[in-house]
Amino acid sequence: MCGIIGYVGKRNAAKIIYEGLKRLEYRGYDSAGAAFICGGKTAVIKKEGKVEALAPYLNGVYANVGIGHTRWATHGKPSDINAHPHSAGEITIVHNGIIENYAELKETLLRDGVAFSSDTDSEVAAHLINKFYKGDLTEAVSQAVKMLKGSYALMAIRADENRIVAARYKSPLIIGYGGGENFCASDEPALAGICERITVLEDGDIAEITADGVNIYDGNLQLVIRGVLPNLAVSESLGLGDCPHYMLKELKEVPKSVQFTHKAFADVEEKLKTALSGVSRVIFVGCGTAYHAALIGKRYVESFARIPAEAETAGEFRYKNPVFGAGTAVFAISQSGETADTVEAARLAKSEGAKVIAVTNCLRSELTRAADVVVPVAAGPEICVAATKSYTGQVAALYLCALTLAGENADGERRKLLWEMPKLCKKVADNIDAGALAQMCACARGVYFLGRDIDYAVAVEGSLKLKEVSYLQGEGYPAGELKHGTLALIDGATVCVFILTDADLAGKTENAVEQVVSRGGKAAVITNVGGVEERLKNKAEYFIALPECDKYLSPLVSAVAVQMLAYRTAVILGRDPDKPRNLAKSVTVE
Ligand code: GLU
Repeated sequence: MCGIIGYVGKRNAAKIIYEGLKRLEYRGYDSAGAAFICGGKTAVIKKEGKVEALAPYLNGVYANVGIGHTRWATHGKPSDINAHPHSAGEITIVHNGIIENYAELKETLLRDGVAFSSDTDSEVAAHLINKFYKGDLTEAVSQAVKMLKGSYALMAIRADENRIVAARYKSPLIIGYGGGENFCASDEPALAGICERITVLEDGDIAEITADGVNIYDGNLQLVIRGVLPNLAVSESLGLGDCPHYMLKELKEVPKSVQFTHKAFADVEEKLKTALSGVSRVIFVGCGTAYHAALIGKRYVESFARIPAEAETAGEFRYKNPVFGAGTAVFAISQSGETADTVEAARLAKSEGAKVIAVTNCLRSELTRAADVVVPVAAGPEICVAATKSYTGQVAALYLCALTLAGENADGERRKLLWEMPKLCKKVADNIDAGALAQMCACARGVYFLGRDIDYAVAVEGSLKLKEVSYLQGEGYPAGELKHGTLALIDGATVCVFILTDADLAGKTENAVEQVVSRGGKAAVITNVGGVEERLKNKAEYFIALPECDKYLSPLVSAVAVQMLAYRTAVILGRDPDKPRNLAKSVTVE
């Protein structure tokens, strides 16, 4: 989940590592650290807090070899001591992942008299490498990782060697090539603007990185050749532009996300058609926001193709002994393509003979390797931890997949409707006035998002977004279910945000508004259905008008409204919407 970066070359590693960590910070930001080889000694600097906490300590450092880490703690609270790097003897490492058998390894090491200085699982890897070191760091790393269960992307250095040895298993790691310098990092954005060619390491690979070259070995230390690819991350697209936060910038990029995803679909359409022929059941899996897109995907498939579909959170799906009959297709949805639960769910589905379709914003991710077909979400890099434009891109991609399953081709009526959506999304992103409603939410004890059918799927997304970035309590709930229990929570200190985009269901949802208001609750309505505002004008406190559109495509505009509401509320409350507490972007651990 954390971000790691390493450098070997002739320039000052301190500056390169620091800037790389800043670019990787969305992967974790509870503590950060770096280690450098300076004159045959290793200097370690690590601090609780964000990467910038390291800046004052890095000023005086000059080194040609360095490794850095920005952490999202899994084992051991965020603190200076638990921050990476971790050292054992002359060995120093950074680690991304979870060492699941760390407790038993630690017990054995303690029995051997090893002293530990942190509460992390990662520290055992440093001690194991130190234990196996007999003059060859690569050999020592190779032996140590054989003992590890779980996931790791790790880098090791030793004070008297000008090189990094890296290893990966189930956590992403790439090599970056420069002239007289080489890099290693968790992902491509970390190397944006500093190296143009990369290699994605495979599970079990071990890499030796020096200024002059990189050797990659498999688990048996046999040299292997891995492909060299262009680095697709562009540094300009990683900046804030003139927006105060990435969340706002990325909300404004929703129109492009929808448009580019639609365009990119043409490249995979035929392959998808072939893969889906004969499919009689569809399962969508995802986590968090991607699961909310899955709820909509299910609705699309059942409505357009009349094929039974399910939506499941990936973490639950894996452990419930799912049934995959002949003709099952599994759509695995993940922005990063590295979400551990989703990747494992895809692998499970594949091993059981299902067709696996990856729907992802990252085309070189683990998920794409597990899939038969990759449907691109062309949202561009998403830096804010809370997903926005990747969600709308996923919804657009799932709409296209469902239409393909239903046999509609590029000039079908529904496909044409999607081309109209970017300008409607732009209207909402540019003009929405959610400030007053956000003010009311910011003062509330609880905020509930309610809707029916497809609006319910957006309600759960609105609720999650508000929780993530504002830390307010709340829930996304089916409007019809309110009266079956949750209504007990409604009083003058609660706000209910109703999403209402389906004219056929308007009357029913309006009843729910009445039920809330009758109990002293405050209501707001986000709608594009004619007459609703008129009918509820003395009931709801606020209305947000959405542009009219086809009901199936309404999530593309209503999601922008609820996500923008979450953003405004977070700003009013003084939260950092880009880096919410306790969270990180790509959840590469289970
Ligand atoms: N498990 C390690 C720790 O808690 C690494 C966590 C991560 O990958 O962010 O320090």
